Amino acid sequence: MSDKVVKRPFVNNNCIGCGACIQVAPNYFDYNKEYLSEAKKCETYNEQDVNNAISVCPVDAISWI
Ligand code: SF4
Repeated sequence: MSDKVVKRPFVNNNCIGCGACIQVAPNYFDYNKEYLSEAKKCETYNEQDVNNAISVCPVDAISWI
């Protein structure tokens, strides 16, 4: 289907586990075993929700890939 979002969010090593992205976009981010954020594997991502998570991250750890 052509309306599928092919890019996905990625959390890099800068993450300090503050939880802000998980609060604003719980569908797409969750804590991993190290209590740091990890992007969930989803079929599609709501661009605005992920962009909100990107904008609240204090260490710029989230990006689209
Ligand atoms: S907002 Fe940034 S630093 Fe905070 S948990 Fe999410 S990725 Fe990590």
